[in-house]
Amino acid sequence: MSADANDDPRVAVTGTPGTGKTTATTLLDDPVIHLNELIREAGLWTERDTDRDSLVADLDAVREAVGEWTGVAESHLAHHLDADRVVVLRCHPDVLEDRLRERGASEAKAVENAESEALDVILSEAVERHGPDAVYEVDTSDRTPDEVAAEIEAVIAGDRDPSAGDVDFLEYL
Ligand code: ADP
Repeated sequence: MSADANDDPRVAVTGTPGTGKTTATTLLDDPVIHLNELIREAGLWTERDTDRDSLVADLDAVREAVGEWTGVAESHLAHHLDADRVVVLRCHPDVLEDRLRERGASEAKAVENAESEALDVILSEAVERHGPDAVYEVDTSDRTPDEVAAEIEAVIAGDRDPSAGDVDFLEYL
């Protein structure tokens, strides 16, 4: 079921780990599904990736567990859900590396995620699945969590135009 333009849209908030999804969505008034928590608590994963110290999610099981949803869903996997609008949080790779290190990530994980961010991996997946007209990039590099939350609220309210490909971090590589 797809919602009408302004009728309780399903908004997926995705982005490379460290871009600030959890922090910003926690500031929203809307109900938020934190998919990574659900995956951990409901055991919706197939294997443990020991190299990356992470779980490999079972996306079919995640979609089934979420079912018909409304509001906001956040995770670096949120763009794998059916959704009406997809917010892709972006962050300059140098800033992202610092955020991840401060959060306690290993050097390898910080660099891997920064490279993935520079290569637009999640943006490309989001555009491929949902089309450019459903995707809204938000560059969080110089924005506070409150400012990022306000951007997400504008997308929910239908006050923002889609944008995909405006952010370019390729010079990092
Ligand atoms: P994600 O959920 O995308 O993995 P988090 O919300 O956990 O990211 O944020 C990653 C780290 O960056 C945390 O330590 C958080 O405090 C910090 N952070 C999040 N958003 C911002 C922001 N807008 N500006 C600066 N630091 C931020």
